[in-house]
Amino acid sequence: MPAANGPKVPLGSLQQQLELLLVCSKCSVKENEITYHPREVEHECMYEILLARRRSRRSAAWRKVSRRPGFPNPARYAVCRYYVMGLGCSRHKNQCTFAWSAEEAVVWNFEREHQLERRWLKAAVLQAQLGDRPAAGPHPAASAAGEIASEFGGCFQEICKRCFFGCPQRITAGDCGSHRTWDPLLVHAVLDSRKKQQYTAIRPCPEFIETLAYCRFVSRGRPCRHGPQRCQYAHSDVEMAVWEAERERGLLRSHLLPSAGTGRANDKPAAPAPVHFYCCICLVTCNSQESFENHCSSIEHVQMLSADSSMQWVHRAPPLGLNKFSLCSR
Ligand SMILES: [Zn+2]
Ligand SMILES: [Zn+2]
Ligand SMILES: [Zn+2]
Ligand SMILES: [Zn+2]
Ligand SMILES: [Zn+2]
Repeated sequence: MPAANGPKVPLGSLQQQLELLLVCSKCSVKENEITYHPREVEHECMYEILLARRRSRRSAAWRKVSRRPGFPNPARYAVCRYYVMGLGCSRHKNQCTFAWSAEEAVVWNFEREHQLERRWLKAAVLQAQLGDRPAAGPHPAASAAGEIASEFGGCFQEICKRCFFGCPQRITAGDCGSHRTWDPLLVHAVLDSRKKQQYTAIRPCPEFIETLAYCRFVSRGRPCRHGPQRCQYAHSDVEMAVWEAERERGLLRSHLLPSAGTGRANDKPAAPAPVHFYCCICLVTCNSQESFENHCSSIEHVQMLSADSSMQWVHRAPPLGLNKFSLCSR
């Protein structure tokens, strides 16, 4: 929910270049990962998705303005050279910290210049959008969980934590049968721009860290050196959003999960849930060890490994400060 009474936002200078609009998943149609079409519909808007459109051009498209990456903090944000509309960024993949449209870069530069948190910008945009209409702002019933669902799409589910952090990585939506206790991990599952399923772990919100921050390794496109299970810093925007909502708005994780009687908190399912082997490089899931091994020796996988120079080759440099090396499953 965009908050009221924040710092003064000099929105005028930004609005000279861009039209700004807050929508939600109900009042907008997503054409591709950056292009949205607002639509008129009777609903209680959550105003979670920030769209921007160039003033100078007629019939310009509305572009989604994602959250500004926590790191790096360049002098000027620019559009990624490897980004292709509809296909995503071929080089940095989902770790890309460049803007994906000129409109997004303009907004990010504005936020940086004025040291503006996104919620204050949203509050100013919302005020301009609604004018003096009374009872402005999201409907009180608009929950933190609903806003996160609206902003990030996809769905949340619980999977076996030890399978997910195991080697090879496995996705098990329930009791896997091999780990004795059901120790769930919340994940955000979303289809990426190539229609492949991508899983993002939402680890427990760190208790003893005063200010939530992004992991400096992961935000540089490197593997986390703290170890993903010990690291106290956010590894993704969606994880950060959940943590913030838990801390500031009392979000309960159960509200993120689909409610339809799938509550697994106490009653375990009778049969072991199917285990899927997961290649997080290619975003490929295999339903047996054999097909996973076939995948790992496939040309597709090898090409992805060598193409993914931003990430994989960093793995290959000998890590400093480690006294024990272990063999990678791949
Ligand atoms: Zn709406
Ligand atoms: Zn990129
Ligand atoms: Zn398991
Ligand atoms: Zn980390
Ligand atoms: Zn692969």
